[in-house]
Amino acid sequence: MLTLELQPVLLLVDDEPSIHRLLAFKLKNEGIEFLSAFDATEGFELAASNRPALILLDVHLPDRDGHSTLIALKNDPRTKDIPVIMLSGDSDSATKVRAFELGAMDFVTKPCDIHELKARIQSAIRIHSLMQMLEKRAQIDALTGLWNRAHFNERLATELNQARRNNSEMSLIVCDLDHFKKVNDTFGHPAGDAVLQGFAKVLTNELRSYDVPCRYGGEEFAIILPDAGLPASMATCERIRKAIESKRWPNYPDIRATASFGITDTGLEGAGTPEAWIAAADKCLYDSKQGGRNRITQYAPPTPQHRLSIAG
Ligand code: GH3
Ligand code: MG
Ligand code: MG
Repeated sequence: MLTLELQPVLLLVDDEPSIHRLLAFKLKNEGIEFLSAFDATEGFELAASNRPALILLDVHLPDRDGHSTLIALKNDPRTKDIPVIMLSGDSDSATKVRAFELGAMDFVTKPCDIHELKARIQSAIRIHSLMQMLEKRAQIDALTGLWNRAHFNERLATELNQARRNNSEMSLIVCDLDHFKKVNDTFGHPAGDAVLQGFAKVLTNELRSYDVPCRYGGEEFAIILPDAGLPASMATCERIRKAIESKRWPNYPDIRATASFGITDTGLEGAGTPEAWIAAADKCLYDSKQGGRNRITQYAPPTPQHRLSIAG
């Protein structure tokens, strides 16, 4: 799941054509893709659309100074995490200090030694990709390889906003393994771990690549399904329910695992905050447990018999 950018992109924003030629030549064999912009406007647009691994930004640009361009980059969610090395012919400390205060990663005085610049570029790209990897790793559950709860919380808010903006459908499934304590008690903790990993595998097999399966905690999981209304997410959920029910563990032939599910979708009244989505899906999960487990309950707007249940 963890991937490093294989061909990092470097964006140079500088109005001097000679430095573009020099860098393009020097980086030719370094496995770095090179993008050129000659003013701040073009630089900002290329940064936002290409998300380079690193930006080299001249302090003196024809249309806007580098410091205010740096402020704009750091204020835009698309570009705020891209490291920036400032370039300037001024070596006075006020210019440098200002650049660092505004979030620059490094400062290089022109004319610069090309070998030193190349080393600084490689070091900045290395640090950036390590930071990205650590950030991603911090959001992955070590046992199952699924996204963890921190990622789920962030992602649910983002996906809800996006669905609302695009007026598209979305569903949320929460699920919990049934009588899982008994698996641990009967077969031991390693067997329980194997079931959790097996369930994660079932989720990955049955979901689309852009669905978001997360380990919510313990033996509880939550799945965000962008662009899926209730009929589609119900069908997916039923596939998952059947797959876990019929799954066998070669090392533990006597284990039978089932799970209970709750689903909610965009039909939730009041559009719904992330908390409302989780509460609605949780309530359905609770009903599935109460109804006998190994079943799916979908959210339906309140009516006298407002919950539909599909039993396994
Ligand atoms: P229910 O059907 O009502 O959900 O019953 P349950 O037994 O699944 O639920 P309960 O909450 O009583 O027990 C959950 C168990 O999950 C208890 C806990 O030890 C176990 N568990 C939580 N995380 C892990 C884990 O990472 N590995 C293993 N092996 N067990 C875990
Ligand atoms: Mg359980
Ligand atoms: Mg539980």
